[in-house]
Parts: sequence; C-alpha cells; structure tokens
Amino acid sequence: MSSQLSVTLTAPNGQSWQQPTGLFINNDFITSTGGTITSIDPATEKDIATVHAASAEDVDKAVKAAREAFRSPEWKDLSATDRGILMTKLADLMESKKELLATIDAWDNGKPYAEALTNDLVEAITTIRYYGGWADKIHGQTISVPNKFAYTIRQPIGVVGQIIPWNYPLSMATWKLGPALACGNTIVLKSAEQTPLSILVFGQLIKEAGFPPGVVNLLNGYGKEAGSALVSHPLVDKVAFTGSTATATEIMRMAAGTLKNITLETGGKYPLIVFNDADFDESIKWSHMGIMSNQGQICTATSRILVQKDVYERFVTKYVEKVKEISKVGDQWASETYQGPQVSKQQYNRILSYFETGRLEGKVAIGGQKLSINGGKGYYVEPTVFTDMTSDSRIWREEIFGPVVCIRPFEDEDQAVKEANDSQYGLGAALFTKDLERAHRVAASVESGMVWVNSTQDCDPRVPFGGVKQSGIGRELGEAGLEAYTQVKAVHVNMGNRL
Ligand code: NAD
Repeated sequence: MSSQLSVTLTAPNGQSWQQPTGLFINNDFITSTGGTITSIDPATEKDIATVHAASAEDVDKAVKAAREAFRSPEWKDLSATDRGILMTKLADLMESKKELLATIDAWDNGKPYAEALTNDLVEAITTIRYYGGWADKIHGQTISVPNKFAYTIRQPIGVVGQIIPWNYPLSMATWKLGPALACGNTIVLKSAEQTPLSILVFGQLIKEAGFPPGVVNLLNGYGKEAGSALVSHPLVDKVAFTGSTATATEIMRMAAGTLKNITLETGGKYPLIVFNDADFDESIKWSHMGIMSNQGQICTATSRILVQKDVYERFVTKYVEKVKEISKVGDQWASETYQGPQVSKQQYNRILSYFETGRLEGKVAIGGQKLSINGGKGYYVEPTVFTDMTSDSRIWREEIFGPVVCIRPFEDEDQAVKEANDSQYGLGAALFTKDLERAHRVAASVESGMVWVNSTQDCDPRVPFGGVKQSGIGRELGEAGLEAYTQVKAVHVNMGNRL
C-alpha cells in the first residue's frame, strides 16, 4: 500500500492505526479517478480522514475484476470446504481486530464504542462464521422422473453488487458478504458515504485471510455516481441493497434495464403493541430499547407504540421516566453514553424538522429539542416521545430514523391489529402479552416479515431477516439468506435409450 493511500489515525480513545484510503480492487488499494469523501466525527464535526470515492470508471474496473475472479480456477475450482475455511479465517482476523473495528465504526458513525464492540462486532463476526459453516452444505436435489435421471445443482449467481447503509457499517457488510461468499459469488460492495473507513480495514483482512484477488472488491463512493454505476452495470448479475425506500425504488428501476436479480431491505415505521395483561416493566424496557438504541437509526425500529387504553396513561408516564433514567446523551467514548450524536448533519436536520412537525401534530411528552453538549458542536438531539397525534399524522406514519417515538392508545385486539397494519411498511412488529393464544394469533395477523413476542430487535445470523410490503424483497440471514445468492440449475439425464 503506497503511503499516499493510507493515513495514520489516532481516535479519541487512543487507538492508532494505519488507515487505508484507496479503493480495494483485486486485493490492492488503488487511487480513484473520481473525487474523495471526507469522513466526519459526528460528535465534534471535525474531519477524520479523506478517502477515495469511486467514479463510474472505477466501478467498471471493480466489476471486471470480480467477473474475472468468478471465472478464475483459484475461486471457481476452490472446494466449498476451503471456501468455508477462508471465511473462518476472516472471522478469526476480525475477532483479533475487534477493538480497532469497533473504534472506527464508533468514530465514523457516532455510536457508543461499547455498543459497537459488544453488539455490531459480535454480530459481524458471528455472521461470517455462521456462513463459513454453510459453504460446504449447499446442495441440490435428485428428482424421480420416468426413464430419466434429473437433478439440480445450486450454483452461485455470479458478480454481486452490494450497497450498504451507515447505521451498522461493518455488520451490514457481513450480512451481505457472508451468504454471497459462502455460495461462491464474487462481490463489489459499496459502503455508505457517511461511514467509509471500517470497510477499508476489512479489505486488509480479506487479503490476509487469503481470498483470491477480485473475489471481494470494496469501494467507497456516492450513491448517485458509484451506486448507480454498480446497479446498472451489465456485468453485475445481482444487486443487494439496504437503505431507504426511496433509493430502493430507484435501484429497482435501474436494475430493470439489465433484468437483474435483486434483494432489497428498506426501512419503515414499525408497531409495538402492549396489551393490558403484559408484564408492564418488561414492555417499558423493551419498547425503550426498540427505538432509542443506536440513536434510533435502526431499520426495524419499533417507533409506533400502541398501548391498550386502560394502561396507556401509566405507560406514558413510566416511558418518560425510563428515557430520563437510561437515555444518557454524550459522545461515543464515555462509558455512561446510551445515545451518541446522529450520524450526519443531514440526518440531524431531518430529525429537527420532524420535531417541528411533531409539535404541530401532537404533544411532546419529553424531548423535542436539539442538544448542545460539546460547545454547540455535534449532531445531538434529545430522545423524544410524542403523544396525542392522529393515525394519519406524518410523525405516526413516516420513518424519522432518530430517537423519536410516537405512542397511541387502542381499545381492543382488533383495533390494535388494524392500526398496526395501517402502514405501507412491514419489516418488524412487536407485541407484549401473557396470553399465549393471543400472542400467536396477533403474530400471524400483523403484516411484517418478523415478529417479536415480549421483546424487540432480536436478530440472529441463524434466523431470516426481511420485510413485506414496501419494506423489502427477499430475505437475509439464516438458511433463507442463501437463496438470494444461488440459482438452481436443472440437469436432465436420459436413461431410457435401452427401453
Ligand atoms: P440511502 O438509501 O440514500 O443510502 C443508502 C445507500 O444507498 C448508501 O450506500 C448510498 O450511497 C446508496 N445510494 C444512494 N442513492 C443511490 C442510487 N441512486 N443508486 C445506488 N445507490 C444509492 O439512505 P440515506 O440518504 O443515507 O438515509 C436516508 C434515509 O434512509 C434515512 O433517514 C432512513 O430513513 C433510511 N435508511 C434506512 C436504513 C435501513 O437500514 N433500512 C439505513 C440507512 C438509511
């Protein structure tokens, strides 16, 4: 790596490292022919580092490297067991660098370091390990057909373009890379422009683990330029995306030009229903975490809380007390910080504008203001609870993507389910009750890809993750996640010539 393509960084927690800044193509860091991206610490608004941003020409280079690697004997003929071994090595390397990787994501994104280390990194490492285990367990079927021998082979799709968001930078990368690699695809992954750093250190680990050149290519770049060049590239066979519904719509339109296989995971506005028989304290604990953790920047955030009428007033009072008790706002490095700054000025302004809207549409139970913590620098907002809005208000219906929750009362189960389903989105939903029959009945009735009973935000690499309605297409994680990265080939063998 040339010295121009790396920079020495020291984070506020004392971690020092050599940060690559180039585009990771063919196991090398190279200069872009496009512009640059400067990563900013959202706690101080100070620059952290400037990295190369891919142009359409660079994307083409990366895609061609991935296409060549897909057909190369080093990858194509590598046994599935050896592919799994490479992935296990990668997971071990990530484990050995987990403090560094957590530091980078905390600095770049604003999330508390402790959260990055104990949540994001654990999830990222486990996901690569889990899919490493799948690599040699992906097979087809034999099918009985008269006078024929028919069987199927599950083959990789080819070159996969992956576009990830900034809310869980490394974790989102592994959700996409894990199944794609296990199935034998080659990859061009574009990171989000707000969090460009950890993916480049991850690139070093890809090389160190021993993946052949071109199998994994990692780019930073702007959505409109690098992202759209990747989605519309004719040599990309599949696109996997996580981010906003608006961008997903655009991606689907662009991918149509070359009839690409796509999987999409977008955001939304998810219900959490509290019935009057629920364990009250547990419902408060989980419903706080379901929207207030990760600065509210969670694709499955349970941001619409529906509470049965007879416990509604008590619930709101306790919820506000919980926010005061737990949601300590501060920088990424203080051990008592629960909520760091929002990721960017754009997200911060977006939340402030929803504060204005919320004041007009409902009542503020707590919060609703920007926060001055670091001499006025940093994208800090108050954790906020709105009540008394109607079900057609914007704050109730639109994704805010911040620590902002709306609470409404309901009369009975039918009304709760009706209100829960009154949304264009359907990724996650949670419900709290001790009534076993009701739990299963409501779980089946809510229109969402995932339901949590008496908890929220459970996520495990072994369990499928994905949405219905405008929250996505396809599934990530679990065995279901492999389907997105393989295609089935049918082979017919004639066995009837001697009849
Ligand atoms: P976004 O959808 O614009 O960005 C996500 C990724 O898509 C980034 O890598 C970006 O570079 C890329 N991208 C953007 N435009 C593209 C294009 N035309 N073609 C190809 N790729 C493109 O999201 P954002 O602007 O960072 O955030 C806006 C809103 O999106 C948030 O407020 C939130 O509501 C939602 N969001 C959801 C998730 C999630 O996990 N579901 C994550 C981030 C943001």
